[in-house]
Amino acid sequence: MATDSKKIGRILIANRGEIAVRIIKTAKLSGIETVAIFSDADRKMPFVKMADFAVNIGPAPSADSYLNMKKIVDVALKMKCDAIHPGYGFLSENHQFARKTIENNLLFIGPDPETIRKMGDKLESKRTVKSFDVPCVPGTDSPIESTKEAKEIAHVIGLPVMIKASAGGGGKGMRIVRDIEYLDEEIKTAMSEAKTAFGDPSVFIEKYIENPRHIEVQILADRHGNVFHLNERECSIQRRHQKVIEECPSFIVDERLREKLGQAAINVAKACHYVGAGTVEFIMDQNKKFYFLEMNTRLQVEHPVTELVTGIDLVAKQIEVAEGGRLALKQADLEPRGHSIELRVYAEDPEDNFMPSIGKLTCYRPPAGIGIRVDDGYEEGLEIPVHYDPLIAKLVVFGKDRDEAIAVMLKAISDYVIHGVKTTLPFGQFVLKNKYFLSGDFNTNFVSQHYNGIFRDRKVELEKIAALISDHIHQKYEEGLIALNENSTDWRKRLIE
Ligand code: ADP
Ligand code: ADP
Ligand code: MG
Repeated sequence: MATDSKKIGRILIANRGEIAVRIIKTAKLSGIETVAIFSDADRKMPFVKMADFAVNIGPAPSADSYLNMKKIVDVALKMKCDAIHPGYGFLSENHQFARKTIENNLLFIGPDPETIRKMGDKLESKRTVKSFDVPCVPGTDSPIESTKEAKEIAHVIGLPVMIKASAGGGGKGMRIVRDIEYLDEEIKTAMSEAKTAFGDPSVFIEKYIENPRHIEVQILADRHGNVFHLNERECSIQRRHQKVIEECPSFIVDERLREKLGQAAINVAKACHYVGAGTVEFIMDQNKKFYFLEMNTRLQVEHPVTELVTGIDLVAKQIEVAEGGRLALKQADLEPRGHSIELRVYAEDPEDNFMPSIGKLTCYRPPAGIGIRVDDGYEEGLEIPVHYDPLIAKLVVFGKDRDEAIAVMLKAISDYVIHGVKTTLPFGQFVLKNKYFLSGDFNTNFVSQHYNGIFRDRKVELEKIAALISDHIHQKYEEGLIALNENSTDWRKRLIE
């Protein structure tokens, strides 16, 4: 369906932090003005300074600021914007917000409200793609109504199963059940949690795929019927079902598999009449059989890795499509070139279960150099507020191949200076040196299988130090310079405990 085209002159960015900065960068290149909105907690943030205009929209809690639909649309109208870019998180997948935007004669930089509604509900999205030759995880495609029904389904698909909130997101609202005895209890808890967290108690059951990989495909579609896939992203390094490291291409995806994944993703996009940039997520079992998980109808956090291997500015394409433009691309030209890896630099303590580590960035020096891209949202002296996602930056690298990208990433991590809060940088270093990551033999359980805090790394360091001191003492002893007492054999043990 073709619509009138309308050039965008000014965009309101309904978001904050790194993604607001990211959108402003493309807008500047395209000669488009930007209006930032900011909460009381974000007054000093770089995105506020970088935008052409900035408007305060309320107190720090998201509900009073970045989620306040009416206020955001009012600001967009008052500031004479042509369009709203929602970024990711917040209102980006809220179909009511998209509808409200359009009803006020503003362009919504994203797909149609109906597409967002359908794909935002995991159950409805499964039903939507059902007849489009898209493999889905075995399970139900309607909410669980009774314990009896749940047991029957679990019996048919076999344990273990995963209970999921239909409206869930951000890695939340999922429970694994390995023992049928706990099914009833887990469903009840899942429903009450889903109601509280997402305002919708619907839960469903699907087969829990053991040790899977999370592989997703970037999609771009216009209003003229063109749909392209921009290759896969490997997102298996996760904590709490949420990604920390992503790369393109995936170690295990060859050209044939890429084409199959790409086609399935294109089918999903066609099933929901997708327009703009979107992501189709798949889970892949150990035999490389893949199943549709969900579609994210927005710009994805990890979109930069795709940009680096395709040379395409996804935000620019989003704007082009929103204006009614035609995507002048050829599928054959979109093959990945080189290798890109992203590390999400969260203000979290990787030695303490990735708990948020809130505080002030007393020193902040991002790395720079060939092959390094830092998408960040903070600067030195700023506080990481408790109110939002604790993502400080995305450290993205590019190399001619995976080995080179890994080498650039390790150098970039060691050059990145962040004081004042704990970050996922040391975790990134751990992963990029890990033999399983290096050999490509990893899955979504990488953290539980191979990581028990960086303590393990530190222990190795301490052992090395202990060995050096021990050699030194031994040498002195040999030289007759010191005498060993009975405690001297114990201290090395004490040091590494
Ligand atoms: P991606 O799939 O792009 O990597 P994430 O799962 O990391 O996305 O989520 C991106 C952002 O959106 C995060 O800030 C996350 O907390 C937020 N988010 C995603 N889905 C929801 C949801 N249903 N409710 C609240 N926040 C969400
Ligand atoms: P969200 O909306 O929170 O992103 P997803 O359905 O995309 O939810 O799942 C997030 C993560 O949870 C996946 O990347 C994967 O690690 C895990 N997961 C989801 N479904 C399954 C499943 N059926 N089997 C195994 N792991 C799963
Ligand atoms: Mg997901």
